[in-house]
Amino acid sequence: MIEPRPCRGDSLERMQDSFHTEHTPIVSGAWRRTARGAGLLTEDGSVAASIFAEMSALAARTGAINLGQGFPDEDGPAEVLEAARQAISDGMNQYPPGRGQPTLLDAIARHQQRFYGLTLDPGSEILVTAGATEALAATILALIEPGDEVVTFEPFYDAYGGLIGLGGGIHRTVPLRAPDFQPDLDALRTAVTDRTRLIIVNDPHNPTGAVFPRETLELIVQLAHQHDALIVTDEVYEHLTFGVPHIPIATLPGAWERTVTISSGGKTFSLTGWKVGWLSAPAAIVTAILAVKQFLTFVNAAPFQPAIAVGLDLPDSYFSGSAAEMKGKRDVLATGLRAAGFAISVPQGSYFIVADATPLGFTDGADFCRRLPELAGVVAVPIAAFCSPAHRAEYAPLVRFAYCKKVGLLERASAQLAALSRR
Ligand code: PMP
Ligand code: GLN
Repeated sequence: MIEPRPCRGDSLERMQDSFHTEHTPIVSGAWRRTARGAGLLTEDGSVAASIFAEMSALAARTGAINLGQGFPDEDGPAEVLEAARQAISDGMNQYPPGRGQPTLLDAIARHQQRFYGLTLDPGSEILVTAGATEALAATILALIEPGDEVVTFEPFYDAYGGLIGLGGGIHRTVPLRAPDFQPDLDALRTAVTDRTRLIIVNDPHNPTGAVFPRETLELIVQLAHQHDALIVTDEVYEHLTFGVPHIPIATLPGAWERTVTISSGGKTFSLTGWKVGWLSAPAAIVTAILAVKQFLTFVNAAPFQPAIAVGLDLPDSYFSGSAAEMKGKRDVLATGLRAAGFAISVPQGSYFIVADATPLGFTDGADFCRRLPELAGVVAVPIAAFCSPAHRAEYAPLVRFAYCKKVGLLERASAQLAALSRR
């Protein structure tokens, strides 16, 4: 039986507060605006853990099934794992080159050509990073000045808020609303102005699973031109779309020269702990980003880089097969969530489902997530954690479940969640 946890209030702020362990740091510095940007600065001035750390800790403490933090419960392809072991045996254990191992740079270029028809110069237009996270960090820090505006969709992946805050930027958002989580194009037109330096586009989108149609992407390119902004795309779920194509913005007419395209091996190869990411952009932009990146990690993951190169060269069947498998998992969890009484939005991409807990009598997703281990032995994350404080109320009843898990586990979670409608 899952141990009940004490309930300490019903807002996301209180939920985060109940998890943080550090007390008010007295040092000044950029940490405060970083934490504030990610919505993690609590009222007493201390920093709450990220929602992912919190919810994984909750799962560990209660023994509940963790459908909160998005990480797969199976390792990636055997040949990729073997290539890393081989690279270690072969002595690839010292600093790799600053831009990345040539074998990986070449493989990224081949991948972009094969899937999207983009021709890249591996020596100047690609940069290997410590996951997509470092690519985002280096890009945002390199390309904005304090006071510049950065537009994202909302809900947004937490790192965007934190990094925009760290860079001293002003975060403007365009809402994505249930059920389809597509932006209102007029709202997008209004959000992008001459003050906008970057437009960050996460497509497929975490946490909603939305995939943006060409029309939306074309408008982003048009607005970037009109207001002289740069586009940063986060495409870490590029190979996880279901029945709709993934369209990298960089492939659209007029986009390449002002777009930084970011991805990572974490989701595509179910190797989130390897933290091998990359970005591509015109050479001058890559050089600017490298100026910052070299002082973040300098380099990383020497033996994992050639292994990810093996992954990127896998046949098309690997990529289509893993998308088909993930679609099957989506359908298992979607069926289970519907049967349990949630109203759900079926995602077209990524590995997350947004569920509305209102039909089950819960209007506060943070409270619901806090009680879910006790009620059903499952962990999810509240969508409000992906929102700025001013907009959390709008998304309050929504929660995110990750389905990048074995089918048996998703079925077990579904069976346990069915208990919710029997309360
Ligand atoms: N962007 C999005 C939208 C994500 O969901 C994640 C989480 N994996 C990342 C970036 C970070 O990717 P990485 O683990 O490669 O740093
Ligand atoms: N990207 C993962 C998610 O959205 C988690 C990454 C993290 O823990 N920072 O669940």
